Amino acid sequence: MSDLSEDFRLPVACPQCGSHRVRVSKVKNPDDAVFCASCKTRLCLYHEAMDLLRRGPGDETEALLERAMNRQRP
Ligand SMILES: [Zn+2]
Repeated sequence: MSDLSEDFRLPVACPQCGSHRVRVSKVKNPDDAVFCASCKTRLCLYHEAMDLLRRGPGDETEALLERAMNRQRP
């Protein structure tokens, strides 16, 4: 299935395992889920990941990622 997804690096670490590598489907719809490449935690949506990349590392970026994760919890 690896040919259907693509890895990239986020400026902030995965809150669960600390990895910066994340995975998204090759289609890259804005609403596609982005997963941690190591622990497979669902982190955020692709358009949110792009926003994080634009902002770069920082407290605000980490806060955005945490907010995105919290929002997806039932
Ligand atoms: Zn992780």
